[in-house]
Amino acid sequence: MTSRIDVVVIGGGQAGLAAGYHLRRLGLDFVILDAQAGAGGAWQHAWDSLHLFSPAAYSSLPGRPMPNQPGETYPDAAHVVQYLNAYEQRYELPIHRPVQVRGVHRDGPHLCVTSDSGAWLARAVISASGTWWRPFLPTVPGMDLFTGRQLHTVEYRSPTDFAGQRVIVVGGGNSGAQVAADLAYSTELTWVTRRPPRFLADDIDGRALFDTATARRRALDAGAADTGGVGSLGDIVAVPPVREARDAGLLKTSPMFTRLTTNGVEWADGTRADADAVIWCTGFRPALAHLAPLGLRGPRGHIPTDGTQAIGEPRLHLLGYGDWTGPASATLIGVGRAARDAVRQVADLLD
Ligand code: FAD
Repeated sequence: MTSRIDVVVIGGGQAGLAAGYHLRRLGLDFVILDAQAGAGGAWQHAWDSLHLFSPAAYSSLPGRPMPNQPGETYPDAAHVVQYLNAYEQRYELPIHRPVQVRGVHRDGPHLCVTSDSGAWLARAVISASGTWWRPFLPTVPGMDLFTGRQLHTVEYRSPTDFAGQRVIVVGGGNSGAQVAADLAYSTELTWVTRRPPRFLADDIDGRALFDTATARRRALDAGAADTGGVGSLGDIVAVPPVREARDAGLLKTSPMFTRLTTNGVEWADGTRADADAVIWCTGFRPALAHLAPLGLRGPRGHIPTDGTQAIGEPRLHLLGYGDWTGPASATLIGVGRAARDAVRQVADLLD
């Protein structure tokens, strides 16, 4: 069955909901297609101890502030899921679940969105499919030889799964630091990073990051020098558990090893460490496979955009994913503005 509609939003995580809020306000005819069975996008799959890096007041989508979580300055992932669930109900967003979008094709004046539950002929598409679904692992010699457990951040749940084991955590970003801090007390931990970890100042949280990302965008738009943005401040937000483990001297790092062996890892100088598990906290790529038929892929797996609008297909907007689709647009506090701009442009196009 094929339905006709003004706008299809692909993805019902925070970015899709923020788009839905603004589409609703402008009275457009739209649908949100989401592959998950329940509300909350990637937050449903976070590890047990994951907390936001900002207080609730600085983690809100447009229109409805996130309530505080009793007893927690930094809400946990379950609180975010609850908030997103309440948000989509409050605005009666037309979300279809679970619907996996297979592809987006050009079809004359429309974009045809095909899925495992039918097709939609849309005048515009907002893709908000996130990154969690495309974990990135580097290729390291010996990965196929290692007989212990290898997993990516997306599969990590809790330190109890590794109690007493020798665990190697790879990655110097926020996920690597948080997973290492989680494991530091109950495992024999080796934290491996390509360069020494760069902690942000302890008082910098998500709000300060948003302000920094915005200031950089404004400077670039005004033709001023690049301020360096968030990356110039460091790589790791010193959330309380990371700060505590670091201050207790439990977050020492080793440089990246050169290969895996059958029972561990080996560095360039021949030093070896045995391991029961290697956890790859090595990041994500945008989940854009459904847009492949449009032939828009640019460098680093991104689709070149002007703001959120795809340069090669003006009927397509990309929301979330990373700073390349708007300052801090992959954060709760930042996605609202990018969503507002995207929806305004979609409305202009439909006019
Ligand atoms: P997602 O939450 O991934 O939602 C995308 C939705 O699209 C999913 O439901 C997915 O199933 C669906 N989808 C994907 N492909 C398809 C398809 N083909 N068809 C249909 N549906 C599809 N941000 C903050 O603001 N504060 C934080 O403290 C913070 N901490 C983070 C910690 C970690 C470990 C990570 C990874 C990210 C963190 N972020 C944080 C960043 C960001 O807020 C989250 O990544 C957030 O989940 C991004 O929301 P999203 O809507 O863009 O994507």
